[in-house]
Amino acid sequence: MFESLSEKLSGILDKLTGRGALSEEDVNAAMREVRRALLEADVALEVVRSFVDRTRTRAIGAAVIKSVKPGQMVVKIVHDSLVETLGRESQAIDLNAPAPVAIMLVGLQGAGKTTTAAKIAKRLAERDRRKVLMASLDVKRPAAQEQLAILGRQVGVDTLPIIPGQDPVEIARRAEAAARLQGYDVVLLDTAGRTHVDEPLMEEMAQIRDAAHPHEVLLVADALTGQDAVNLAKSFNERVGLTGIVLTRMDGDGRGGAALSMRAVTGKPIKLLGVGEKMDAVEDFHPSRLADRILGMGDIVSLVEKAAQTIDAQQAARMAEKMRKGVFDLNDLYEQLAQVEKMGGMGGILGMLPGVAKMKDQLASANLDDKVIKRQRAVISSMTMQERRNPDILKASRKKRIAAGAGVTVEAVNRLLKQHRQMADMMKMMGGPNAKRGMMGKLG
Ligand code: GDP
Repeated sequence: MFESLSEKLSGILDKLTGRGALSEEDVNAAMREVRRALLEADVALEVVRSFVDRTRTRAIGAAVIKSVKPGQMVVKIVHDSLVETLGRESQAIDLNAPAPVAIMLVGLQGAGKTTTAAKIAKRLAERDRRKVLMASLDVKRPAAQEQLAILGRQVGVDTLPIIPGQDPVEIARRAEAAARLQGYDVVLLDTAGRTHVDEPLMEEMAQIRDAAHPHEVLLVADALTGQDAVNLAKSFNERVGLTGIVLTRMDGDGRGGAALSMRAVTGKPIKLLGVGEKMDAVEDFHPSRLADRILGMGDIVSLVEKAAQTIDAQQAARMAEKMRKGVFDLNDLYEQLAQVEKMGGMGGILGMLPGVAKMKDQLASANLDDKVIKRQRAVISSMTMQERRNPDILKASRKKRIAAGAGVTVEAVNRLLKQHRQMADMMKMMGGPNAKRGMMGKLG
């Protein structure tokens, strides 16, 4: 999902030139793209404006961490700003009130209210061990109450018996009374929707709210909602008073604009995501995860974070110098393997690179896993300094000793030596004419 937004943002990266600190010019160029991308992703104009302003201020003059490209740095800053707008913490449904706790679901027709009611009920019953009663207050749509009853049976949650002819407020009162009498912990109220926001709908919702005193009022909205998201969220928030938002159809190819707009405009947390039609297709909302998905840059953000923590600039410079000279001994290989481990192993590094996720299985079968890295480091650890600097002296007896020391077979030692040889050859090639001098000096 959010393909378009992520594509736009990734397009910015190639254009940045700044080094050291982000220049105003670079940031402005990037922010023009961010702005356009957000608008194309249907984020409301007012939200885009304040988001871009805030992010621009933060980005100008920001230091670029060594070993990270300026473009990657901007992505990190945009990401952090997105997380902030989306709300830092994931927030669960709040049941902290005297039982029965009423939860009211509001939203437009077809947004997924009834489905979401059943999903939430199932979750509260199974995971949180609550006794849940559901009631449909939708008397407009024929069979709406019956639909909820069917879903209730499906997920093993009770629904309020249907009494034809009652109005929504009467049903809400009856649900509350039944819950109180029969010892339910939670009452889930599914309400009627309309095709668009209108006064009669708002009036009905306000009446239900006054009768039911819900502890949570959740707006259920389709993630595909475009510019309407602001009006929708604003109206419900002002007239009914929201405590949170549930975004449905996050399994579709919505672009995330709705999440950003509704959160920014109401200040109310997005609490849950609907990710499919099945009854367990519901997830907690994690702002940072959504920001990652909006950016869609593999996980450049954590790459930057990890690089900032672990990469030692001096060491990187030393390695670059060696590469320039075309010298690469087993100590260097050891250092590189250690660096890989520090950054979360091959899986960690590869997972952070865009487009690699799909290749993971292939990579695993190519033996690039972390156990191999540990074993390789153990092999090098069992060598003397002299052996590490000049692997050519490694003959059968030394190899046997090393293998025993590392707890591996002699073949494993040979494999490592072969791999090192290939890498050293590559370094020599990259090092150009300097490489020969370096190697000669060493041999002589
Ligand atoms: P309501 O009118 O707001 O009560 O909407 P419904 O709960 O009846 O849902 C309308 C349609 O959307 C149904 O076909 C649901 O199966 C579907 N639906 C609801 N939530 C999701 C979701 O998270 N993902 C997908 N793909 N479909 C959903």
